[in-house]
Amino acid sequence: MAPISKFRSVTRSESDDLRSKVHFCAETGEIWLHEHRMLLVHAEAQAALRKELIDTLGMQRAQGLLTRMGYASGARDAELARARDPNANDISLFMTGPQLHTLEGIVRVTPVKVEFDRSTGQFYGEFIWQNSWEGQWHRRAFGIHDEPVCWTQIGYACGYTSAFMGRPIFYKEVECVGMGNDNCRIVGKPIEEWEDADQYKALFTPESIADQLLDLQTQVVQLRSSIGAQERLPSDMLGSSPRFRAAYELLKQAANNRITVLLLGETGVGKEMFARALHESGSRRDEPFIAVNCSAIPHDLIESELFGVEKGAYTGALASRPGRFERADGGTLFLDEIGDFPLSAQCKLLRVLQDGELERLGDQKTRKIDVRLVAATNCDLQELIAAGKFRSDLYYRLNAFPIKLPPLRERKEDIGPLAKSFLDRYSVVHAKKLRGFTDKARRALLSYRWPGNIRELQNMVERGVILAPNGTRIEVNHLFSFCPDDQPGAFGLDRNGDIGPERLEAGPSLCETVFGGIMTLEQVEAVLLETAVDRARGNLSAAARMLGITRPQIAYRLKRLHAEYETSSQFADEAPAAAPDALT
Ligand SMILES: [Zn+2]
Repeated sequence: MAPISKFRSVTRSESDDLRSKVHFCAETGEIWLHEHRMLLVHAEAQAALRKELIDTLGMQRAQGLLTRMGYASGARDAELARARDPNANDISLFMTGPQLHTLEGIVRVTPVKVEFDRSTGQFYGEFIWQNSWEGQWHRRAFGIHDEPVCWTQIGYACGYTSAFMGRPIFYKEVECVGMGNDNCRIVGKPIEEWEDADQYKALFTPESIADQLLDLQTQVVQLRSSIGAQERLPSDMLGSSPRFRAAYELLKQAANNRITVLLLGETGVGKEMFARALHESGSRRDEPFIAVNCSAIPHDLIESELFGVEKGAYTGALASRPGRFERADGGTLFLDEIGDFPLSAQCKLLRVLQDGELERLGDQKTRKIDVRLVAATNCDLQELIAAGKFRSDLYYRLNAFPIKLPPLRERKEDIGPLAKSFLDRYSVVHAKKLRGFTDKARRALLSYRWPGNIRELQNMVERGVILAPNGTRIEVNHLFSFCPDDQPGAFGLDRNGDIGPERLEAGPSLCETVFGGIMTLEQVEAVLLETAVDRARGNLSAAARMLGITRPQIAYRLKRLHAEYETSSQFADEAPAAAPDALT
């Protein structure tokens, strides 16, 4: 049991710790709370939305909608509680929620009594809410109400505590500003301890008009996509980006004839997957598909591997055996890394392509074969021709139907669905239950350059699945083993999602920030000064030492800076991120 009967106020360092998780990123127009994207919304605008919901949907439906919205927000903040110091005691961890609710500007939360035990699931919580945003606005818009009105906030408390405790915990307002009380007072208990739990539960069940509309809309989308079901891609072939679709259209055109197809594209773009899809969507789908990686077979063995060998052809050839071409007879042979195909054997390959005939090594007999050849390469075959390593006649034969497969960075809209499908696959493989990716991780996946393409994405998601704790979302550091800063500017944020000190340590990106007009020299100086003062906890002498200047020098610069703050509204408007103390 972890009780607080006499509450102590939140210490300065605890709230600083949470505040440090908020990052404003002026250059990308984003605000981050840990790994979740946040919005700084005008309370008045939010109130207008709330009023319109009530006016159009009615009190009860609006209540349900807002409660569920709050619930989602609370459940997300519970993830942040999990991400905090694992050595902290349960009460400190739990208090993350009330602290965030306060930090987010919703309501000031003061615990009256909190007792819980996560192992047994026991919970009792009682809190005073001061300055309830929702209660005050409701009262202003609708006057005194006979029931509690802080719906979003109650949803938040339920969502947060339920996620934190791992079981449904429901809160009720026993006093509410909206009912004419001075403050709101809430009580939370496990759902089964409430007598009217069923009635209460209904609030959490989507059934409003809006939800029904959304359901109908989803059904329309599903019906539409099932109408186009003939169009469905083979499993593993995921993509709706124009470049992917263009490549796939070409592939479909080639599927039903025997033309030799040359797949071009970077490493990891899924050439073998395309070759298989080509095979499976054509008339040869019930015949063999044989894949050979030319770079994996030693040059002196490639002829016997591909064309077969007759007993006694060379020392050690103790038995006759067919090559891969014969084994693929009637089906498809996929030759990957065709650029590594040895010059000595290219003539024989050309003959198979031209005449559909081959002789096994050490054999006089000519065999007819019917194989559709798909070749693939990531190198420039014409360069190899110029270097005398590749026959031009073979090249023209192979190049009859080239298909260029786009790199992953050129099909951004496919990254999300691909990542999701890998997540699903590896969650099964590694017996993990994960809730997807954090906003920041998703964003990182989208902005990364993907030199290793789909294969790299696949490996990265598997790594994420392994590293992310059960029941959580995959975070950036679960995905990237290296520092994403290796790609300056690629993330728009530095390691901490900050434009603070970390950015200043990164020389090149700092330069880009100034050269690119994102920050002025004065703003950089301001960040340096503010950060030093911050780190020195306001001690100017210590801050000056950090910067290698004297105390009078720092005092002078700060004075000048503050004068600028006051006179230049443009500074404040355009660069809130340059002023870390905007948060304090
Ligand atoms: Zn209230």
